[in-house]
Amino acid sequence: MNAVKQPIKFVHKLCDWYRANRRDLPFRENPDPYRILVSELMLQQTQMDTVIPYYMRFIEQFPNVASLAAASPESVLKAWEGLGYYRRARYLHQTAQTIMHKHNGVFPKTVSALKQLPGIGNYTAGAIASIAFNLPVPAVDGNVIRVMSRVLAEDCDFSQRKNVQQLEVLLEQLIQHDRPSDFTQALMELGALVCQKKPRCERCPVNAHCLAYANNEMMRYPHMPAKAQKTKLSYYVFLIGNSEQGYVFQKRPEDGLLAGLLQLPQYAGPFQTACKLLEEDLGISIVKTESLFLVHHVFTHIIWDMQVIHTIITDDASLTLHTLDNLPGTLSKAHRKILERLEK
Ligand code: SF4
Repeated sequence: MNAVKQPIKFVHKLCDWYRANRRDLPFRENPDPYRILVSELMLQQTQMDTVIPYYMRFIEQFPNVASLAAASPESVLKAWEGLGYYRRARYLHQTAQTIMHKHNGVFPKTVSALKQLPGIGNYTAGAIASIAFNLPVPAVDGNVIRVMSRVLAEDCDFSQRKNVQQLEVLLEQLIQHDRPSDFTQALMELGALVCQKKPRCERCPVNAHCLAYANNEMMRYPHMPAKAQKTKLSYYVFLIGNSEQGYVFQKRPEDGLLAGLLQLPQYAGPFQTACKLLEEDLGISIVKTESLFLVHHVFTHIIWDMQVIHTIITDDASLTLHTLDNLPGTLSKAHRKILERLEK
């Protein structure tokens, strides 16, 4: 891996720029490890503008580790509702409980202990250690990879852990030259505000150190290997009920994709098999079905194609119907889309 030109100057220019230009973000007001953890997990798959109101509400409802650890899983998922990728909320809840039960309510301060907590990997451990504890530990996320691959004119494949590790070693040396907390946030902030996909190099505080800029090859980095094709899965989704009285919902299994969330009854085809499974699971008899519309939902690695079927059944008083206002849990975003489409 290439070296940074004049590394000490690079670090000071970067950190000075950060201190003068950083955004006032709510989790920067009081960078305690709990707040950094909540913000970092929320930001992992979600844009900053979307995260901020969720973060504010979450911290108001669960202001510290103890309050989150004592909450019910349902109330944590409810507070997360709409952010998607609910595994993050489960990990956050489990981490709070682990800190209360195993660490007497005190966040561990070493990277190796942080990485033992549920859902905390190299990046999140580095972010907490450097931002909250001011320890010289790097945190490499997509923003940092974009900035550093350009500064170094490095076109290796950063989806490979060994290349990220090399970058971590280099950043570990750089971070020693200023406040670790500022250095980590400065790299992230530069990636978010200046070294964006289309970089604004003329206003970049470290353009004199940037090899990609010197060679006018900024768009060549970071090297992006071709993404694997997403797997398409097709389902039938059965609408039993109506918008006034509500619909029948099922709870998904406690592990796997969308674990424990609510959904409308959903089965893979062929259609006759899906109908039979629905009848067996709910103990009902289908009288009539009508195909309504198709809804797509894209996950990280898969796409769901959901054919929505309006379903009339023989009267069955044992079925409980719920509207969106009185759901007994958190509805998956994929199926919320279906109900929103019905309301249009
Ligand atoms: S000079 Fe341009 S490409 Fe280089 S770090 Fe700055 S913004 Fe990014």
